[in-house]
Amino acid sequence: MSELAYPYEAPASQALFDRAAAVTPGGVNSPVRAFRAVGGTPRFMVSGSGPYLTDADGREYVDLVCSWGPMILGHAHPEVIAAVQEAVARGTSFGTPAEGEVALAEAMVERVAPLEEVRLVSSGTEATMSAIRLARGFTQRTKVIKFAGCYHGHVDSLLAAAGSGVATFALPDTPGVTGAQARDTIVLPYNDLEAVHAAFAAHPGEIACVITEASPGNMGVVPPLPGFNQGLKDACAANGALFVSDEVMTGFRTSRAGWYGVEGVVPDLMTFGKVMGGGFPAAAFGGRPDVMAHLAPAGPVYQAGTLSGNPVATAAGLAQLRLLDDAAYEKVDAVSAQIQGLVTEALAKEGVAHTLQTASNMFSVFFTDRPVRNYEDAKAQESFRFTAFFHSLLSHGVYLPPSSFESWFVSTAHDERAVQRIADALPAAARAAAEATA
Ligand SMILES: *Cc1c(COP(=O)(O)O)cnc(C)c1O
Repeated sequence: MSELAYPYEAPASQALFDRAAAVTPGGVNSPVRAFRAVGGTPRFMVSGSGPYLTDADGREYVDLVCSWGPMILGHAHPEVIAAVQEAVARGTSFGTPAEGEVALAEAMVERVAPLEEVRLVSSGTEATMSAIRLARGFTQRTKVIKFAGCYHGHVDSLLAAAGSGVATFALPDTPGVTGAQARDTIVLPYNDLEAVHAAFAAHPGEIACVITEASPGNMGVVPPLPGFNQGLKDACAANGALFVSDEVMTGFRTSRAGWYGVEGVVPDLMTFGKVMGGGFPAAAFGGRPDVMAHLAPAGPVYQAGTLSGNPVATAAGLAQLRLLDDAAYEKVDAVSAQIQGLVTEALAKEGVAHTLQTASNMFSVFFTDRPVRNYEDAKAQESFRFTAFFHSLLSHGVYLPPSSFESWFVSTAHDERAVQRIADALPAAARAAAEATA
C-alpha cells in the first residue's frame, strides 16, 4: 500500500458536520452531500480556485464534481467573479425586468436552435416542474412519461424511480407525494422505445408529454442509444404529446448547444440550469413559441418567481456563456478524455471489472464489465468497489462525486498539474477497488 498523502480524519469538517446536524436534517441541504453512500465525513469546503477545492481542514482537492456541473470554467474564474462584483455593486434584486435577463435569454436562444423563447427560473427543479405544467396546460392532458433513473429535480410527480440522490438512497417511493401525482406518472425503462409505444397505446389521448434527460447523468452516465431520442420525439408527435428534453445537466456543457448540439433531435420544450447560472441559482425552460405563448402573462398557465432573472445570477451566467467558445469546449473535452484514459488504464492494470461511459465530456465509471443501458443495469454494478475507490482518491486529494450513480465533471481549469495529481492517486485507488469486498 502506498502511503496516504493525507490523514483520513477531517476534524474541522467533522466539527462543522456535528454543528450542522443539530440544526439541519442529516446535516446537509442536499442529500448526496452527506456521504451516506460512501460513509465518512463530508468535506466542508471553504474555497475553490480553478480545478481545486480547499476544505475546512486546509486540504486541497482536485475537484471532479464542479458543483455537479455548473463550474465548467473552474472555481472563481476571474472574469465571472468580475461580472458578479460589478452586478452586486448595482444592487442585488429589483423585482422588475432588467437588461441582464434579456441578454442571458438572447445568448441561450442564439446557441440552441429549437429554443426560440425562454422563461428564467431559479432552479432546475422549477424548470422541469414548470415545463410539465405548461405541457399539461397546452395539451389539456394529465399523464407524463418519465424514465427510471432519470432525475428531473425534486418535482413531486417526477420523483418516482428517480436518479441522483433518490438512486443513491434507493428510495422506492417518497413519502409526501400523493397517489394522484404518482398515478399520473408513467415510469418506463430507459432506452426502451417498445415500452414507450406500448404506454402510448395503453393511454390514448392521455399523455401530455414525455420528459427525459437529454443524455442521462443522474444514474451515472447512460447515453441514449442511437435513435432513442428521435424515437421519443416521433412517438410524441404521432400521439399529440410534447417531447420535453431536460438539459439541466447537459445544457451548455456537452457542447456549445448542449446535447441538442451533439444529437440534433428537436424537442418541443427544453429545460436548463447548472452551467447557465455560472454557479448562481439560475435555470430556465423554453422551446416552441406556440407552446410558450400559453404561459402567463401571455397565456393562462401560471408561473412566477420573486428572484427569477436575478441580476447577479444572470450576470454570472452570461459571463460564463460568453467565455464558453469552441476552444473552451475543445479544452474540456480533451482533459476529460485524458482523465478517462488514466482511469481506465489504472483499473485495467488491477484487473477491476469496469465500464466507463461518456456523453461528450461527462463520464462515469460503473464497476461492472457489462454496458449500462438503463437503471437496472446501473444498479447491478459492484458499488462497494466504488466506495473503496472513492475514499482512496479522497485521501490522495481527489474529490469524486460521493456516489456511484453520478456523473463526473471537469472544467477548462483542469490543467496538467491537476491531471498529474489524479494520475498519481489512481494506482492506489484502483488497488483499493480490486481488494474491496462487499
Ligand atoms: C440537477 C438536475 C435537475 C435539478 O436541478 P436543481 O437546480 O438541482 O433543482 C433537473 N434535471 C437534471 C437533468 C439535473 O441534472
